[in-house]
Order: sequence, then structure tokens, then C-alpha cells
Amino acid sequence: MANANVMDKIVSLAKRRGYVFQSSEIYGGLGSVWDYGPLGVELKRNLKERWWRSMIYERDDIEGVDAAILMHPKVWEASGHVAGFTDPLVDCKQCKNRFRADDPRIKGTPGEPDAQCPTCGTKGNLTAPRMFNLMFKTFMGPVEEQAAVVYLRPETAQGIYVNYLNVLQSSRQKVPFGIAQIGKAFRNEITPGNFTFRTREFEQMEMQFFVKPGDDERWFEEWRAARMQWHVDLGITAAKLRFHQHTADELAHYAKAAFDIEYEFPFGWHEFEGIHNRTDFDLGRHQQHSGKKLDYLDPATNERFVPYIIETSLGADRLALVALVDAYHEEEVEGEPRVVLRFHPAIAPIKAGVFPLVKKDGMPEVATRIAADLRREMPVFYDDGGSIGRRYRRQDEAGTPFGVTVDGQTLEDQTVTVRDRDTLQQTRVGVDKLRTFLRERLGW
Ligand SMILES: [Zn+2]
Repeated sequence: MANANVMDKIVSLAKRRGYVFQSSEIYGGLGSVWDYGPLGVELKRNLKERWWRSMIYERDDIEGVDAAILMHPKVWEASGHVAGFTDPLVDCKQCKNRFRADDPRIKGTPGEPDAQCPTCGTKGNLTAPRMFNLMFKTFMGPVEEQAAVVYLRPETAQGIYVNYLNVLQSSRQKVPFGIAQIGKAFRNEITPGNFTFRTREFEQMEMQFFVKPGDDERWFEEWRAARMQWHVDLGITAAKLRFHQHTADELAHYAKAAFDIEYEFPFGWHEFEGIHNRTDFDLGRHQQHSGKKLDYLDPATNERFVPYIIETSLGADRLALVALVDAYHEEEVEGEPRVVLRFHPAIAPIKAGVFPLVKKDGMPEVATRIAADLRREMPVFYDDGGSIGRRYRRQDEAGTPFGVTVDGQTLEDQTVTVRDRDTLQQTRVGVDKLRTFLRERLGW
């Protein structure tokens, strides 16, 4: 399978089965903006809930917040975004396309007569590099004037930093402790693309862990290992996961150490989570810009310090894409091609398909009752249309881990067959044991 081809097939399946649609498609679409359909929203919710549970419920040292997207404009001065969140760009005066100045497709030096446009191929039409702010700007209140400018947040982290004192005081946590958040962020990316991988509107799952300076390196290593393990536990193919350590050139100016977790997509290895040692940069800058003391008094030692921050920053949309790509398999079953999404059952949008073998002899009625009973606990899909083989295939393509079939024997002994999506094995299970049987295999 050629790699580009695989990605095309995944994009096509995502649309056909209701995972991902292009935004505003009936108007021709909006560039690099995507909507999640009925199955996609379930997949993404399951991923977010799993992350939230591992951060907030399974530990006692992390608290959750949900900060607003709009923040005081001074936040972005303190964070360095207003001054530094820019990429030098060049425009083609001929075809009006815009490129990053470091686009490897550009031949020659932009601004000079030898520079060649990668799109229209003309020479001497590329402007010298210019800065361009990646933050989306809007206006607060009725008047569109400079004083009313606010930004759509380009990252969720700042909503955590500015609430650090509030959370510390209201939760009675002590350093070391963390704050986690799931939320939307926006960046006016110049070169978005690769389906939902790089988009202008995206959702982040971030956790900022506040530690005593000196303890930072130990916590950094702990979180780095924990985050990789989390993806492995999710069932993501371990051989397609790796760390990329930022070199001195790549490190953000405030960071002491940074590792990306990368996945091998059909379009190459790319980062989908970052673990960063941000030092005391963030709280230090907010202390300076707000004039509010953000240091911590250690009750045990009476020491005062500005905590260091270990950040784990995961893209929810990127994780959903990793899950989708990793689950996608084409194989042959009994001489027939089969497309199957092998999701970990815990994140599969639909947990079980429920089918009457034939549409007569009371089987649809029994199957309908079973589906209604299962629905009290998990999302299920009832299907009585077409051959049983075709119905299995449809659920394979949707990633549904179990197929429950009511057949002639069900009417005699109150058992059903449960088909496993991956092994294709069929097990007979008593109707009264079915919920327990499935629950045990869903991995919650
Ligand atoms: Zn051009």
C-alpha cells in the first residue's frame, strides 16, 4: 500500500462513516477546518475522558480547570506571544501565494531576483521575509479600535498559569501539584494540512505540574515516561511511537528540556505530544507583568520560591488522528477484503452491534430488547438490514469491537453469539450474562 494512498483511504473512510467532515462543506469548505461527525465525536470524547481520568481521578495531586478562550491582552505580552509568536513569511507578487520564508521548495533568496516561486515558478516575484502574527485577533465590545483588541488564545497553558494561585488556595494542594485542562486554541497557521494534523482551530489536553526548583529534572523524567506509557496502554502500536529530543537549536528560549512524542503517520514521523521543562519562566513573567506575587512558601521548610513547571501538552485532534490511523487495517478474511478499525474497545465509538440473524421468527423483537438493555450502559448499534456478513463488515469499518447476534438457538436457550472484531471468534453467551461479558472486555 502506497502511503499517500493509505491516507486518502483513511480520509475517505472518515467521511463515509461519519468520523470527520470538512467544515462548511456545502459552501465549498473552509481551509483546514474540520468537523467531527457522529462517530468522530464519540472517539474524541472517549480519548478526552480517558486522559482526564488518568490525570484528575486516578491521582490526588492534579486539579482540573476550564479557563475562557478570551483572556486579558496583557497575558500575551507576558507570555511573549505578542512579540514573538511570528513566522517570517514571503509573498509571491505574481500568483499571490504566501509561504514560510524557510519553505524548502523556495529556490534562491526571497527578495532577490534569483528567488523562484514554488507555485507559479516565476523568478524575482517573491518579497523579502515579513513577520506575521499567528494569533487570531478580534475586538471586545462594540468599537473596533486598537484598545479593544483581544485574541483567541493560541494555547491553553496561559489559562492555567494565571489561575495558579486561585487553584493553589482553593484546593489546598501543595507543591508539587498539577493543573490540567482540555480546551480549544487557535493559531493562524500559514501551512496547515495533512487532514486534521495541523489545523487553525484545535483542542489541547494540557497538564502543568508545579515543582520545587531542583526537583524539576526528576519530575520531567517521570512525566516523560508516564506519557509514553499512556499511549502504549491505549493500544497504539509501540513500534510507531518514539521520542524526539529537542536539540539546543530547537529548544524554546524558556525551556530547559523538551521531548516530543512522535507517531509514524503515513505522511511521516510527526509530533503529537510534547513534554517540556519550562523552568520558572511562565510564573516569573506573569509575576513581573501583573505585579502580583506568584512565589510559593514551602510550609515544611519556610523557603520561598517560584515553582518550575513541567508541562505535558497533547493535541486532542492529533491523538484522535493517531488513534484512527493506527486502527486502520486492510486484510483478507475468507478470501474477501476487509477494512477494519481496530480501536482499543475503551475508545471505540460504538461498543457492540446487535443483529437478528434473519428478520423473522421473533428474532428482531429479541434483538431490539437486547439492544435496549445494553444501551443503558454503552453505545450500541442495532442493524437488521442485509446479510449478516455485510452487517459485520459495516461494524468492522466503524471499529465496533463486538457483534451480538440473535439466532434460532437464542429462542430455545436464551444465548446469543458474540463475535470478536479482531479474532473473528464467536462465543455463545447467555443473554442474562451479556452486559457483564461485554463490560469485562471493554477495558474501562
Ligand atoms: Zn508565484
